[in-house]
Amino acid sequence: MASKTLDTFLNENIKDLKERGLYNEIDPVQGPNGPKIKIDGKTLINLSSNNYLGLATDDRLKEAAKQAVDSHGVGAGAVRTINGTLDLHIDLEKKLAEFKGTEAAISYQSGFNCNMAAISAVMDKNDAILSDELNHASIIDGCRLSKAKIIRVNHSDMEDLRSKAKEAVESGQYNKIMVITDGVFSMDGDVAKLPEIVEIAEEFDLITYVDDAHGSGVFGKGAGTVKHFGLQDKVDFQMGTLSKAIGVIGGYVAGKENLIDWLKVRSRPFLFSTAVSPADAIASTKAIEILMESTDLNEKLWENGNYLKEGLKKLGFDIGNSDTPITPCMIGGESDTQKFSKRLYEEGVYAKSIVFPTVPRGTGRVRNMPSAAHTKEMLDEAIAVYEKVGKEMGLL
Ligand code: PMP
Repeated sequence: MASKTLDTFLNENIKDLKERGLYNEIDPVQGPNGPKIKIDGKTLINLSSNNYLGLATDDRLKEAAKQAVDSHGVGAGAVRTINGTLDLHIDLEKKLAEFKGTEAAISYQSGFNCNMAAISAVMDKNDAILSDELNHASIIDGCRLSKAKIIRVNHSDMEDLRSKAKEAVESGQYNKIMVITDGVFSMDGDVAKLPEIVEIAEEFDLITYVDDAHGSGVFGKGAGTVKHFGLQDKVDFQMGTLSKAIGVIGGYVAGKENLIDWLKVRSRPFLFSTAVSPADAIASTKAIEILMESTDLNEKLWENGNYLKEGLKKLGFDIGNSDTPITPCMIGGESDTQKFSKRLYEEGVYAKSIVFPTVPRGTGRVRNMPSAAHTKEMLDEAIAVYEKVGKEMGLL
């Protein structure tokens, strides 16, 4: 018989979340996740996916994946350290190292498990991690898993980072100290102050870890934030995901040979979870080749991002201070933000609301993620809907 305790726990908590408006309903997308999507039979302009360059539906990636299915089958067959390392995984890792300008790279099944794997493979209970307060959940979980002391740093506050680094070093309590940050913070689209972070890291001999999930393919003409600032030799872990601009699935760390060698023997998802499929591996390699050959898609992404930002700003919306195409439209209160997003949906625009507890109370926003695949017509249509809903709700 099923557990009554579990049933009570689940029912009470789901009810509570629903009552507080925090229960996230899933909207299944019928068909591809492109610039337009279909949900519940309704076609919408999609401003909520991380498919920044449109590569998730790119014909060149699709073709490569189809060929890999024919040549290698659909599964890797084992974990990487038994015999699940296929030539296609090695090709991908070589390409990643080339892309990131490092000696070597290791790939994982997702960005999330990459952070869990890599942080906990290097840090332990005798160490400390200086972590920006807005870092992604997978960084937080990776830090927790490592059992290192987590020292929260005020968001992009270099004085706070310096004083906490100094304090940690001077305490003499820790063997190793790491500073960890998102390269691009996805809620506001702001870029980490990497040159200052690296300077502080050099002063205090900190290990540096940058999660460039939203920077790769986007910032620095696509090379990412670390390469943009010319810091490839100064950042120990260049972490990224293959699921956003790259359009596929997977995560990776690029860095020095000895780091990658260590991760191959000590990071648990690499040792104990089956590798990504041949089609995934080859599609990611193809995407990186495309990015390295031409900046066309990247330029289009920025052009579209700037176009949408200008359009919303001209209407009178507060679009925050994003350094990237991520365009938050600040609404404020939780229920207003949710209502705004719902009205956009009804009018044909899919842009998710982001409210407390994901962001501080009163800073609810609808987050827009334009991509290289959007046309000007689609963006104009979206801007017109924003105008209509903004006026209707008395925000303009
Ligand atoms: N890091 C950051 C900063 C992210 O935004 C995300 C995805 N939301 C991840 C890691 C996890 O990546 P993935 O989706 O590939 O698991």
